[in-house]
Amino acid sequence: MKINNNFLDLKDSYLFSTIAKKIKEFQAVNPGVKVYRLGIGDVTLPLAPAVIEAMHKAVDEMGVKETFQGYGPEQGHDFLRNAIVDYYATKDVKVSSDEVFISDGAKSDLGNILDILHPSNKVLIPDPVYPAYVDTNVMAGRKIDVAKGNQANGFKPMPDENYKADIIYICSPNNPTGSVYTREELKAWVDYANKQKALIIFDSAYEAFVGDDKLPTSILQIEGARTCAIEFCSFSKTAGFTGTRCGYTVVPKELVFDNTPLNKLWNRRQCTKFNGVPYIIQKGAEAVFSKEGQKQIRANIAYYKENARIIHEALEQKGIWHTGGINSPYIWLQCPKGMTSWEYFDHLLTKANVVGTPGAGFGEMGEGYFRLTAFGDRETTLEAVKRILENS
Ligand code: PLP
Repeated sequence: MKINNNFLDLKDSYLFSTIAKKIKEFQAVNPGVKVYRLGIGDVTLPLAPAVIEAMHKAVDEMGVKETFQGYGPEQGHDFLRNAIVDYYATKDVKVSSDEVFISDGAKSDLGNILDILHPSNKVLIPDPVYPAYVDTNVMAGRKIDVAKGNQANGFKPMPDENYKADIIYICSPNNPTGSVYTREELKAWVDYANKQKALIIFDSAYEAFVGDDKLPTSILQIEGARTCAIEFCSFSKTAGFTGTRCGYTVVPKELVFDNTPLNKLWNRRQCTKFNGVPYIIQKGAEAVFSKEGQKQIRANIAYYKENARIIHEALEQKGIWHTGGINSPYIWLQCPKGMTSWEYFDHLLTKANVVGTPGAGFGEMGEGYFRLTAFGDRETTLEAVKRILENS
């Protein structure tokens, strides 16, 4: 018996445990001092009333013989797949319901999709970015190259025609930098991928934060994407489902590699290894798309976006270089006075009693940068921003 020794190549992730440890140590020597947290990537507002109502109703249905639901379709119930098709139509994107696969969140699908892709594929991953992309590929033993984000490209790396990749990751709006690709920039990636016959793994988990009509919220809005891209999305940040768990993946039928449609392979993979998302949760997710549901979730997003705006404006006034904060819940700033990410973390914790996330935790290119999030409450955000400005 041998283990998959690719797992031994994973770097231990101490980011959030180190943050927790440092806060604990600080509080032990500074009892009673309030710590203002702008580091969390989790939502804090409760589920929308329309979602709760739909889930209550679904619970009741489960208790009645006539409406009880056993195993559902592995791909998700039609009511939710069709609601997502209609949502895409509002973005001028045509997808069919059998291209939409419901999951228990984007993280699972982003990892699981690799089941259907050969381990010998070469992968291009932006840096800094959501760390799961790297780790899931390390687990499969794939060769990984990074597309470097920096101030010069606004943390939006662009394709290099001289470089050949098989699988390309794009996260827009980006976690952690909050940067959003324009249509022209995404078109360049789509053209590059089609030319190289590469696959784009497009993560649109934060699409609902894009308020600027000119910016794309889906790669499928870009001409040519249906032959090169799979889109992964989630109800986590859109509708506060981080603890409820529901997401979706769109696999266009035109995606054909080695004469095999990826839609068919993914369907086969899901039917074999996944038994669907609970009916009750899918009913809650369906309610996100109702008129009331949309109104309520949009109000929550507007609340977070106002927090983001407050942070962005304050940094702007102080002349601190940053990205994000307008069409994203994340603000990515350059640590002042040449501090490293962790030096700035310690500085803010001890001097301002504010917690953020060191950029170095999102890849080598994150060193010297820092992530703040808009998922806190207004009072905390206002006070934390004031303290950051006084100490930066
Ligand atoms: N993709 C990105 C870029 C994220 O930041 C996150 C969560 O923080 C996820 C995916 C995971 O989303 P889910 O909760 O749907 O698994």
